[in-house]
Amino acid sequence: MDRTRATLLYMFLCIALFGRGTITQGNQDTEGYTAKRTQKQEEQHTHEVHCSRERSRAAWKIIEEYLKPFVEREKHEISRNCRLHPENDIFRDQEQHKIPVDINEWRCGYCNKIFEAEKFLDQHFDSRHYDLLNVSHSKCLADLCGALHCDLVVDSNSKSSKIKCNTAAAARNHHFCESLANSCFAVNHSPSANRLHELFLRQFCDAHTCSGGRKPFSRGRRKHSSILYLAISILTLMLLPVFYVIVYLYQRENRKGTQVLKRVSQLGQKAKPS
Ligand SMILES: [Zn+2]
Repeated sequence: MDRTRATLLYMFLCIALFGRGTITQGNQDTEGYTAKRTQKQEEQHTHEVHCSRERSRAAWKIIEEYLKPFVEREKHEISRNCRLHPENDIFRDQEQHKIPVDINEWRCGYCNKIFEAEKFLDQHFDSRHYDLLNVSHSKCLADLCGALHCDLVVDSNSKSSKIKCNTAAAARNHHFCESLANSCFAVNHSPSANRLHELFLRQFCDAHTCSGGRKPFSRGRRKHSSILYLAISILTLMLLPVFYVIVYLYQRENRKGTQVLKRVSQLGQKAKPS
């Protein structure tokens, strides 16, 4: 009688455990399905923004390097109506939430997730934080690339320079470049605006020609090499004494170790004859 009861109890336990296992597996399956579905939804959302992030970044880089230093020197405020204004770049907020931790480590400033490369963080922004993009207005900085010579920044090793110059395209870009200068630095508005208008034409617009001889960015770029060198040399000077202290301490520890060993071996030799 006791044996039958024990067998029944054992069978009951087995059924209970097996049932629980299937339920857990079922839950995992549902989770997997949900994850797959979310991924699909994310993929669908990726294609909603019709503005190149890479080219927008190139345009931003050009503005920062080849225009901003001059605007700052003139203490000029770029108006929001000007398409070069930071507010008119839909990706600006996301780009500011990129945190480069290490060479192979990029952190998302919104959710703190870590990525191996910048391009993966870009993909993450496209899928997870697409809702933060304000796409209601035309704020695509990449649209200015024709005027700003983005191709020179996007891939400097490309064959673009070898491609035959298209006169019509060059004329179109030149016209667009001039209209950009007119809208951002209105002539007769102020002396600084006049100077920046002139600078913009020389820096960006003159090179939109097939006759050659004119190069973009003729007025130069932001100078930060000297500051970088200064920072590196200061850092080296600060770290050098630390390095010597570490080497000194290491050698001292080594010397102590050999002295102890010598003493031990001497004691051993003395102990042996007796
Ligand atoms: Zn995130």
